[in-house]
Amino acid sequence: MPRAGTKPGMSSIRYIISAPSGSGKTTLVNELRQYVPNLEFSVSYTTRPPRGSEQDGREYHFITREEFEAMIERDAFLEYAQVFDKYYGTARSVMQHAEEVGHDLLLDIDVQGERQVKSKMPDAVSIFVLPPSRAELESRLRKRSQSENVLAEDVIRRRLDEARREIENYPNYDYILINDRLEQSVDQLQAIVLGERIRRSGKPPSPVEKQYLTTAQKCLKANMEEKIKGILATF
Ligand code: ADP
Ligand code: 5GP
Repeated sequence: MPRAGTKPGMSSIRYIISAPSGSGKTTLVNELRQYVPNLEFSVSYTTRPPRGSEQDGREYHFITREEFEAMIERDAFLEYAQVFDKYYGTARSVMQHAEEVGHDLLLDIDVQGERQVKSKMPDAVSIFVLPPSRAELESRLRKRSQSENVLAEDVIRRRLDEARREIENYPNYDYILINDRLEQSVDQLQAIVLGERIRRSGKPPSPVEKQYLTTAQKCLKANMEEKIKGILATF
């Protein structure tokens, strides 16, 4: 794999990834972590309680509503939003740390957060993950809740309704990734991340790097419109 990392002092690239719940974003990001060096994963602050095996400081910093509101007062957030009645936010300190160590940063945030970050940092790279269809999204949500032993029908319905609203925000994103076959999606996500590094390095790409650029280009929103229309029609 080509090393197309950043160095301390160079401006780091901010990647934003969003998806309707159940599309497979967490699965994709966990895979990406294994393949791409020099990429920090932003740990957000949230007022929702930990789920399953989640640990404070690993998946999220779990804090109270009062603590969250005190951070808003101190202007400690790059962005924050309410999702499913809970606060979620990205601390400015996360971005500063990534810059100091010369790493790029990946923000896993919702569509409201993407808008806020893009308006402050137009050169951030945003990626929207879509399920191949509503039926497949429903099946993934069901499968996941079965494996977690919580089959809450009302939660699944609510997430499907929310998904339709979130998908309407796809025009705000740079890249669209349809998570159909997992292996192909991981390759595409890796190509998008490395492709942006290669492009911004200004150096002529090697043959392998050209392959990343070609794969990434196919995921540009402008090249995905037909496929997106097909998916939207199922919602
Ligand atoms: P999200 O983080 O977007 O809410 P998850 O990563 O938790 O979604 O994935 C939801 C469910 O779908 C999980 O059970 C996961 O194993 C499954 N899944 C993820 N990607 C795929 C895929 N490409 N094909 C089939 N199932 C998938
Ligand atoms: P979950 O509770 O399932 O982990 O996350 C719910 C939603 O909140 C997901 O869409 C996730 O991307 C989003 N989210 C997580 N952290 C942040 C954050 O810091 N800011 C914003 N705006 N959204 C976040």
